[in-house]
Amino acid sequence: MKGFFERVKNFFANLFKKKEPRLKEDGTPYTKEELKALKREEKLKKKEEKKKLAAQKKAEEKKKSDHYIEVCKEQSDALRDGTFQPNDSFISLQHINKIYPNKTQAVFDFNLDIQKHEFIVFVGPSGCGKSTTLRMIAGLEQITSGALFINGKFSNLLEPAERGLAMVFQSYALYPHMTVYDNLAFALRQHHVPKDEIEERVKRVSKILELDPYLDRKPGNLSGGQCQRVALGRAIIRNTDIFLMDEPLSNLDAKLRVQMRSEIVNLHRELNATTIYVTHDQTEAMTMATRIVVMKAGYVQQIGAPKDIYNHPANVFVATFIGSPAMNIVQAKMVGGDIILSENHKYHLPAALKKKVAEFYKDNPMEGDDITFGIRPEDVIIVDSPTKDTLEIQLDFVELLGNEYHLHTAIGNQKFILKAPAKMEYQVGDKINVKFDSDRVHLFDKKTTNCII
Ligand code: ADP
Repeated sequence: MKGFFERVKNFFANLFKKKEPRLKEDGTPYTKEELKALKREEKLKKKEEKKKLAAQKKAEEKKKSDHYIEVCKEQSDALRDGTFQPNDSFISLQHINKIYPNKTQAVFDFNLDIQKHEFIVFVGPSGCGKSTTLRMIAGLEQITSGALFINGKFSNLLEPAERGLAMVFQSYALYPHMTVYDNLAFALRQHHVPKDEIEERVKRVSKILELDPYLDRKPGNLSGGQCQRVALGRAIIRNTDIFLMDEPLSNLDAKLRVQMRSEIVNLHRELNATTIYVTHDQTEAMTMATRIVVMKAGYVQQIGAPKDIYNHPANVFVATFIGSPAMNIVQAKMVGGDIILSENHKYHLPAALKKKVAEFYKDNPMEGDDITFGIRPEDVIIVDSPTKDTLEIQLDFVELLGNEYHLHTAIGNQKFILKAPAKMEYQVGDKINVKFDSDRVHLFDKKTTNCII
């Protein structure tokens, strides 16, 4: 009450406070007429500035819309002349390019056909164009060239809301002042869904995501995992056929990430919606995807099922990006049938592999005798005694992870890791004999880095 009277008192005090007269540059006060003229002038000046700003804004918008019309025209022309055609896939991305206004080309000639109910993961290091591609599908970024078909419909120019999809971002973007129930119900209320139906849908989603105990809480009183579940709930409550997820788990700690990973996979199984998921984490890609799209610097490197990508990487980048610890890569020379890995390490290439190398280089002979050799740590076999097929290596560093060892060594001066069961004993300086599982050896062209075998 005291505060209220104080405020009233201040209000009247300010109202009747005598204002300081405005003074001219020479310190003398303005006359009434002069003051009137000055105020008129100032008002006019303000009005003109406002007008100038509005004109500037209009010109910028026109420039943008001219560009937009041009892009749309090109895309519509290409559609008309049959360069792009819908096919029987659910989502079809055809020769998609993205150039940002600052001339950065983020995506180069992206092609992908997605079938209904697939769980596609875009994976690659930061800045490789994953989010840009996802945002073009969502309609949050304009497609510079190429065509996007959703359910057979040319969708480049559709508004996000017209595309029949829901998106989940890295930041939960929940309304902090609303309860979990209201956060879930928000989009439905906006679309004037009847109250009974909202209640039913919130109940269903909260049951799937196990949010029942938290419906009355506000986001500030939830854990990170619970907030992310509410964000997922806000997407799935909309009953769309397509979910787009941009690194939804990267704000969570490691343990929660693992838990949420399986929750999202289960959710996908239950809802059977088509999902496109962006991550830089290769483990997420391997464990969640039905198909992975590996990207690097705006280019698609390989598209395939996780197992295929792991077992048959298309190039050195994919080979080393997917899998942990990464595949061992050794720059080697091929002399006769032997791969010379270093001065002291030689691998005798089995006849079948030698034949494949010869076939690969048939029309385009290998430059020099350089070749890139690859083997995953788990495909290096430790043997008790040396034979003509074994290599002797010395251990530089021994890591015991509980269930297994990671043994660090070098071939020549190139780092090399192998795995060993924890029941054995290893120490730094130990010399051991190893051989390679020939079915799991990878060879890459040194120049292109593309896979030979
Ligand atoms: P990722 O999701 O794989 O980390 P992004 O798609 O966000 O990569 O970015 C791809 C490239 O495009 C990067 O080089 C990034 O700096 C650039 N980029 C992203 N957004 C913009 C933008 N609004 N304007 C200009 N360049 C951008």
